[in-house]
Amino acid sequence: MEPNSHSVHGLTLDMLRPRVLSCTLCPLHETRTHVVFGEGNPDAAVMFIGEGPGEVEDHTGRPFVGPAGQKLDEVLASVGIEREEVFIGNVVKCRPPGNRVPSRGEMEACVPYLEAQIALINPALIVTLGNTSTQWLLPDAPGITKARGTFFRWRGEVLLFPMFHPSYLLRYPSKEKGSPKYLTWLDIKKVREWLDEYRNAGDA
Ligand code: URA
Ligand code: SF4
Repeated sequence: MEPNSHSVHGLTLDMLRPRVLSCTLCPLHETRTHVVFGEGNPDAAVMFIGEGPGEVEDHTGRPFVGPAGQKLDEVLASVGIEREEVFIGNVVKCRPPGNRVPSRGEMEACVPYLEAQIALINPALIVTLGNTSTQWLLPDAPGITKARGTFFRWRGEVLLFPMFHPSYLLRYPSKEKGSPKYLTWLDIKKVREWLDEYRNAGDA
């Protein structure tokens, strides 16, 4: 397995964190309680990217720890993926009031941090959760209902795999064939299989 670069142009994840935690670049800083930097393995092979912090995330400073986070944990646990082995982050690091979708300007202000995190973690696979992160990273991708479950190439080397946002699953509890939950279960199994192959290739 190739070593991940921990430093890009002299910047490390630990140097980036305090900058983001004190950021006032966009209006979301006025209403936030905590900045949510993202967390997990700095060497992760897989990065999961959501939209932005919700209420519980804003209160705790941690990504995906509210109801959507519990759903994400369930999805990961169903294939034996631990939160600690991946990195979990968001497009914007401060909560949009009322959990509205972040504005284009807010995303433009914040996305350099996400870009830096991707460069530093250097994942082989990015899983985008929902439309916002998918459309931001891959503007030409179809909507999430079509894009989910497909491997795309992102800037050459990195694979990008969109999945439904876990909060979408909370709104549609059915597990019937073809339901969002059913499709997500197929998708996370694909991520598991990719991870196993990636690790086997690394050991070979
Ligand atoms: N929804 C997101 O997109 N991100 C979080 O961190 C929590 C909920
Ligand atoms: Fe800064 Fe991003 Fe928070 Fe806006 S959302 S204040 S750009 S960290």
